[in-house]
Amino acid sequence: MKTYDKLYIGGEWTSPSGKGSFDVIDASTEEVMGRVPAGDAADVDRAVRAARAAFDAWSRTTPAERAGYLQKIQAGLAARTAEIAETIAAEVGMPIALSTMIQAGLPTLTFGSAAQLATSYRFEEQTGNSVVLREPVGVVGCITPWNYPLHQIAAKVALAMAAGCTVVLKPSEVAPLSAFILAEVIDAVRLPRGVFNLVSGDGQTVGEAISGHADVDMVSFTGSTKAGKRVSEVASKTVKRVALELGGKSANVILDDADLSRAVTAGVQDCYLNSGQTCSALTRMLVPRAKHDEAARIAKQVAEAFTPGGAFDATTKLGPLVSKTQQERVRGFIKKGIEEGATLVTGGAEQPANLPKGYFVKPTVFANVRNDMTIARQEIFGPVLCIIPYDDEEDAIRIANDSSYGLGGGVWSADVEHAKRVARRIRTGQIMINGGAFNPTAPFGGYKQSGRGREYGKWGFEEFLEIKSLQL
Ligand code: NAD
Repeated sequence: MKTYDKLYIGGEWTSPSGKGSFDVIDASTEEVMGRVPAGDAADVDRAVRAARAAFDAWSRTTPAERAGYLQKIQAGLAARTAEIAETIAAEVGMPIALSTMIQAGLPTLTFGSAAQLATSYRFEEQTGNSVVLREPVGVVGCITPWNYPLHQIAAKVALAMAAGCTVVLKPSEVAPLSAFILAEVIDAVRLPRGVFNLVSGDGQTVGEAISGHADVDMVSFTGSTKAGKRVSEVASKTVKRVALELGGKSANVILDDADLSRAVTAGVQDCYLNSGQTCSALTRMLVPRAKHDEAARIAKQVAEAFTPGGAFDATTKLGPLVSKTQQERVRGFIKKGIEEGATLVTGGAEQPANLPKGYFVKPTVFANVRNDMTIARQEIFGPVLCIIPYDDEEDAIRIANDSSYGLGGGVWSADVEHAKRVARRIRTGQIMINGGAFNPTAPFGGYKQSGRGREYGKWGFEEFLEIKSLQL
């Protein structure tokens, strides 16, 4: 049991003004595994004042000084890899081996790449008689979700601090514990007081207090489209900069000339990563109509090998969902898919018989899905794949783009140039060609209602910079 009863503000652990707390639940056992404070608007105000007070000095440090701190934080996180991986595996339900690599490993690396960005970035350039300067945007409020908790925190906090900003972090109340480990690491490296502040709590209280605060210059939000819209609304009153990383319903276009077996196998695996709780998951698999039944047969076989089980069980291929709420939501979508006439190929809405405890959902595949069905339009956020037949390439591109989202996607073809031509016509922020690997230095973000702005690499770094021109 990990219990935290203090917030990290102005370089010290302080008692919250908010009186409540949030229990953190182990997704595999449904037992309480931790507790964190429910902060309130007064806590946010204290944190923002600390961040504001620290900004002037921090923004004037050299990139090398900032990089030095970021590298120390990277080392501090690396030393606690096992603890971070175990904590997030328990909170979120991701199998421990994957959690070690993705939930603990990736964010640790992000602190290192943020250090590199700070020292390699050109903060000044010349145009005509002007010098154009890039300066840190100021105090950044970071609001993050539960699915990759530390990864999403690092994408914001490490890059914002590298740019010279100070931050107030509000992690998800569902999986907040890694944020407290990060605060302990930051405290141990003696980062100047107030550069990093942590206020845990819920979205309506703490999230909205950050979004609406007059002294916060930017909000960087990752979460659902619904909450992202609310953040934009609340933030608009102070005209602050808003970056949004929201939901997705990404299409995986398998072209007629692709290796069907390889493409379908990789597509199912992508869709089920983190039990389907990945914003860019390839949840709509588009296949040529003539190959639909064969694709469904392969998908069934791959899906049925995803043995559900607890996050710490070595035989587990598919962990539980994060919470009861998510489990019920996903089961509701499965029932809706059946009602609307999609073919249930495998899985279903019932709890797996051998796993009476834990928020498990069976690996599920629907075939003969039409793009106007609820399961093809809404983000399900569970292990549910929709196979949608298409008539020809134009039809495939039309279906891929027929979504209010525009986050990710995939294209499979025997000819890479062919795949690239199709990828250029899909209106999303990322596309994987023939299963191309996630690249943490490439820009990540969405078109349409998947968000605004980009994270990672120099594009993510620039989100935290203002532009000033000096005319000479
Ligand atoms: P969520 O929107 O419920 O919560 C995200 C964060 O926002 C939490 O910290 C929450 O407390 C806070 N929040 C909620 N309401 C708020 C409000 N009114 N004002 C301010 N803050 C508020 O999302 P979630 O359930 O934690 O995460 C799942 C969602 O996140 C999915 O839709 C997923 O697609 C999306 N997501 C997107 C990306 C991306 O990079 N595009 C990455 C991961 C997750």
